[in-house]
Amino acid sequence: MSDSPRPRRPAAQLAREEPVATGSARDPARPAPLREKRPFLLDFFPLETEKDTRLARFYENLRAGRLTTTRCRQDGSILWPPRTACPRCHAEELEWVDLPDHGRLYAFSAVLAGAPLGMEEEVPFSVGLVDLDGVALRLFGRIEGKPWNALHVGEAVRVEPYDVGDGRVFYRFRAQP
Ligand SMILES: [Zn+2]
Repeated sequence: MSDSPRPRRPAAQLAREEPVATGSARDPARPAPLREKRPFLLDFFPLETEKDTRLARFYENLRAGRLTTTRCRQDGSILWPPRTACPRCHAEELEWVDLPDHGRLYAFSAVLAGAPLGMEEEVPFSVGLVDLDGVALRLFGRIEGKPWNALHVGEAVRVEPYDVGDGRVFYRFRAQP
């Protein structure tokens, strides 16, 4: 511990950092400390509206059941994830193209414990990498449809839209049971 004096800070700030009192011997002249806030809940899903992202079209298409991405009109590169500019030639003339809605499981893993905040009740669940059929793209995502210990590398999976539950949509993969 350092002997140097701590800089003075506003009382409100000190109170906020104080741990929650559990005993009854608190000085009644002092204001009750604020309860500590719960940790910030990480949001794993992007904001999807036109107001938030220039890639809103991806989510609109997904909502309509189509997995799409952007292709560069200059050099023909199919880009994943969808972009607003081509990382190869920097062109901004991109077009939306449909991707196959099926592929093969390249690799997977299971989350058995220590799930991210907000996903604790979904344990156990699987995540994996999927090679889409007919296009050189390997996508990461949740793998549904089967318990993790029944999955195998190379098996066929389909892409499906997933309702996040707050108006947003994302994609997942589903193995055939
Ligand atoms: Zn390009």
